[in-house]
Amino acid sequence: MKELQERIIRDGRALSETVLKVDAFLNHQVDAELTMKIGQAFADLFRSEKVTKVLTVEASGIHFALATAYALGVPFVYAKKKKAVTLSDDVYSAPVYSFTRKENYQISIAKQYLSAEERVLIVDDFLATGAALVGLTQIVADAGAHLVGVGAVVEKSFQEGRGLLEKAGVRVESLARIKSMKPGEIHFVETTPVHTS
Ligand code: 5GP
Repeated sequence: MKELQERIIRDGRALSETVLKVDAFLNHQVDAELTMKIGQAFADLFRSEKVTKVLTVEASGIHFALATAYALGVPFVYAKKKKAVTLSDDVYSAPVYSFTRKENYQISIAKQYLSAEERVLIVDDFLATGAALVGLTQIVADAGAHLVGVGAVVEKSFQEGRGLLEKAGVRVESLARIKSMKPGEIHFVETTPVHTS
């Protein structure tokens, strides 16, 4: 998505070779218009799949799931993150390891909001190690629902997330794919290097 790529160059900041800061427009302060266009882009990519529900993880996936669900005319559900590993019968849960926080947490979704008849699209802000998204795919499998694919707003292609998901047979669509980066420089997949300020 050209507009997103241009915005990353303008307002994003590579803090290191692995961490991209986009909190000026994607995941702290949020550009609402861009978010709705992102939702439309995911809806266009997956419309033929007859999606019945969009899934994400709180908190930074919620606005993208909302925009996508609105464009598709379906509901969205966000998995809640819990530190406590108290499993209850009425939720689907999966463990996730956070590399940024260096801790395990549990994501869960109430069973009543994910049935075996659903055709699910998973959406999130970043595809990095894929830990959070793989957790969500486990929940979809536990529910016996059909996963149509995963949509990531920003993919760091040099990390293992895409590979993990594709190995599991999951269709992955990312709107901006970063091949490599370092402070002052961001390289996208299949484009020429672009220098930032
Ligand atoms: P995962 O490693 O499970 O693919 O990513 C988990 C979450 O970490 C993402 O949904 C995102 O919120 C956050 N994250 C991962 N990499 C980055 C990054 O480079 N920048 C920012 N701002 N968040 C990231």
